[in-house]
Amino acid sequence: MTNRVYIFDTTLRDGEQSPGCSMTVAEKLKLAAKLADLGVDTMEAGFPIASEGDFEAVRAISKEFNWVQVAALARSSTGDVERAAKSLESARRPRIHTFLATSDIHLKYKLKKSRQEVLDAAVAAVELARKYVDDVEFSAEDGARTDPDYLEQVSRAVVAAGARTVNIPDTVGYSVPEEYGALIGRIVKALGDTAVVSVHCHDDLGLAVANSLAAVKAGARQIECTMNGIGERAGNCSLEEVVMVMKTRADYYPFTTGIHTEHLYATSQLLSSIITFGPQPNKAIVGRNAFAHEAGIHQDGYLKEKTTYEIVDPKSVGVPEGRLVLGKHSGRHALKQRCEDLGYHLSKEELETVYHEFTALADRKKGIIDEEIAVIIEHAQSAVAQVAGV
Ligand code: MN
Repeated sequence: MTNRVYIFDTTLRDGEQSPGCSMTVAEKLKLAAKLADLGVDTMEAGFPIASEGDFEAVRAISKEFNWVQVAALARSSTGDVERAAKSLESARRPRIHTFLATSDIHLKYKLKKSRQEVLDAAVAAVELARKYVDDVEFSAEDGARTDPDYLEQVSRAVVAAGARTVNIPDTVGYSVPEEYGALIGRIVKALGDTAVVSVHCHDDLGLAVANSLAAVKAGARQIECTMNGIGERAGNCSLEEVVMVMKTRADYYPFTTGIHTEHLYATSQLLSSIITFGPQPNKAIVGRNAFAHEAGIHQDGYLKEKTTYEIVDPKSVGVPEGRLVLGKHSGRHALKQRCEDLGYHLSKEELETVYHEFTALADRKKGIIDEEIAVIIEHAQSAVAQVAGV
């Protein structure tokens, strides 16, 4: 078994379908460009049957970023699968991701279907999806709360029907690492090398990253995750955290990903500027305080030798070094530098607009944070583009 772990980003789908996170097609395209730079293996760009916007996002993203694999989500029904297939028509590396709940609680109350009916529908959806694309993923929704015998039966059946990836989500964030790792290990053993086993964890109990790592230890080779950990309710497994655990603790997790970690901070900042909130200040890796040392003893040790209190080099995740506080007395030069650190290369005209908005804000408020600068840049870029008529 290889040590390469695939990063399946669902910021544009699971992340987007949570309060305060809606994105327009144009915003999704902008973020997709950053996710492509970041090196994600798969971008799940939307749920095409859900809305015209989602359909258009999958279509546009799979066309523009044709070297990245793009996934479209579909329930296990003919209409959904056909709509997903249509949205991926011009994709070079399309994936249809079809799902159906398998836990008794979902079967009884939500689907009102028997286990056999669900199994048949899952197989039929995978077979239909395979008529359109070679790469099909099946997700057993609420997999972590599914009877393991039945889960194994469904997993074998969808692979026999042509699925290449079988995802076992902890849809409601209920599982714990040892339990989830054992379940994933069982499915990995059952499927052998016939399919990649994938995980999709939610953070309702704060265990999404830990559960995903336990799963990888047990043989899963795809992690579904989002930037800043956004997603339904408490969110999904945080991409930046799970990747940086594997990088920082390679001694314990000897796995590799295709992520260029130095793009993490800029990607996080761009996402924050598009949606209505940024990561909490103390968020690991991308939070404003993630690399701030306040206590005297810590500062003393840090100044003598960084590694006394710093396990991740901020540069390795793209956090600008020597983070000067920008305020009303900062000049264009410092501002330009910060814009570049945040991943924006501005024209002279754009920088001028940013500078004016920045000084106006700095008049009203002390210490401008990076997220605010990113929002100003986004405004300025669209204002300049409008004047230019593009
Ligand atoms: Mn989810």
